[in-house]
Amino acid sequence: MTTHRLILLLGDQLDAQSSALSDVDAAHDVVLMIEAQEESTHVRSNKLRTALFLSAMRHFAQELRERGLNVHYRSLDAHNDASLAQGLQAAVAALEPKEVIGVEPGDLRVRHQIEAALPPGVGLQWRRDRHFACSHERFAQWAGRSRQLRMEFFYRLMRKEHGVLMEGNEPAGGQWNFDSENRRGFGRAGPQNLPQPLRFAPDAITREVLALVAQRFAHHPGDLSQFDWPVTRAQALEALQDFIAHRLPHFGAHQDAMWSGMRWGWHALLSSSLNLKLIEPLEVVRSAEQAWRERGLDLASVEGFIRQILGWREFMRGVYFLDMPALGTANHFEHHRRLPEWYWSGQTRMNCMRECLQQSLELGYAHHIQRLMVTGMFGVLAQIEPQQLCDWYLAVYVDAVEWVELPNTAGMALFATGPRFTSKPYVASGAYVDKMSNYCKGCSYDPKRRTGDSACPMTTLYWHFLKGHEAELGANPRTALMVKNLQRIEPEEMAQIQAHALELLERIEQL
Ligand SMILES: Cc1cc2nc3c(=O)[nH]c(=O)nc-3n(C[C@H](O)[C@H](O)[C@H](O)COP(=O)(O)OP(=O)(O)OC[C@H]3O[C@@H](n4cnc5c(N)ncnc54)[C@H](O)[C@@H]3O)c2cc1C
Ligand code: SF4
Repeated sequence: MTTHRLILLLGDQLDAQSSALSDVDAAHDVVLMIEAQEESTHVRSNKLRTALFLSAMRHFAQELRERGLNVHYRSLDAHNDASLAQGLQAAVAALEPKEVIGVEPGDLRVRHQIEAALPPGVGLQWRRDRHFACSHERFAQWAGRSRQLRMEFFYRLMRKEHGVLMEGNEPAGGQWNFDSENRRGFGRAGPQNLPQPLRFAPDAITREVLALVAQRFAHHPGDLSQFDWPVTRAQALEALQDFIAHRLPHFGAHQDAMWSGMRWGWHALLSSSLNLKLIEPLEVVRSAEQAWRERGLDLASVEGFIRQILGWREFMRGVYFLDMPALGTANHFEHHRRLPEWYWSGQTRMNCMRECLQQSLELGYAHHIQRLMVTGMFGVLAQIEPQQLCDWYLAVYVDAVEWVELPNTAGMALFATGPRFTSKPYVASGAYVDKMSNYCKGCSYDPKRRTGDSACPMTTLYWHFLKGHEAELGANPRTALMVKNLQRIEPEEMAQIQAHALELLERIEQL
């Protein structure tokens, strides 16, 4: 057979309706899928993340073959490609296509690598990624020349354009956003009646992948015995239905709450399936809306969930493509300290950090507030260089892909882009962690103390951070109150806080 076209499908493009497959000719086209070593090593990728990608890719290749398509699958065990570029070049040399067709990659590093890898004479056609609710053009048109972009206004536009949670021209329930109802802690008793999410035992394909990953990436973080993520569209749809039936009804109230040993809470656990493109954002949103309309679920929960997907997820993607490459090097506060080694081991006496880091390293999962208000917040307070923390986030989570990880880390958690798309840095003292979790109860530090050996590092570094950026934060209406509280601290105590903070920063590896 002569190969007319090579259809390149990347590991996070596992969509049977993909635009790259829309006119596939089973008789002459070959679908190319590549497992490349570099995709797990350019940052030290969690073993569960690598296993998830490889298993989902192998299952998808099998489905394509069952559809009658010719798949050239380059597995790590059989072909051992060091990089996507190397795999692509080898496939082009062997199959001699006239053209390569692909869906635009979500990671610009990958896009540039593929474009540079093709030999002269072989055409390359990038097609639109139809997975998202908002196109690049629509986002750029909405953003216009604005210097500051705000998710809330973009989200309202998406609600109107897609007719989601709308009653005529008005938002359902008379409000666009019910966030103020969605910030409760668990109270002293902790989480009650937590439903266990549906998990998926590894099948033969996944077990082969787990053995390969265990052997190849032995020194990477992650406990493979815990692997139970959805790896096919059918499983992802089951996971979606399980969430909607059992956890969505209570998703909102405790969305931000954390508790020692609590892994999943009422969260959806759908980000990895969405990011692999096993399921579509609009189908998830419509299923949640339907549950609200038909089963009378709490609107605050349903709206809160829909905002994460139709609002934040689409917004982050828009920002990534609008603001790259500057986003990749942004450093508003000019922080240049090294990421402590214990981000890779979880071995710290700070209980909140230990819990969130160990869970992240072991399972490849932590919920949004653990990422934002614990591991991310410590990063900004401890003046860690944003790019080092971005690489850590890209490595550790099963759902990590650059278009969504980078804006969340650099922009939202670290305020490295200044007020470009979040209105304030997300910082707080240990009192916030104490209110939203029970972490402080098992900690050697005291969240209320700002100086002395037992002072909570989050608290000391928080006041030190405010002092260091007093003028900027005082001029921002969203943080002005924090600065007013700062100014109530007596100068003598402030000097002690400053001295203690500098000492903590110097011995950060020992915290
Ligand atoms: C520092 C940092 C790094 C992050 N890195 C990633 C990442 O690499 N990949 C990723 O998918 N998400 C990332 N997020 C966003 C969010 O934390 C995860 O999407 C969420 O925790 C996934 O768990 P879940 O599916 O149980 O989500 P839920 O809390 O149940 O939320 C439902 C869905 O909404 C979407 N969502 C929620 N918040 C966001 C957000 N801020 N941005 C984009 N989508 C969102 C996800 O698709 C998620 O599945 C990051 C957040 C922070 C603060
Ligand atoms: S006391 Fe401070 S370091 Fe310890 S768990 Fe609470 S916030 Fe974290």
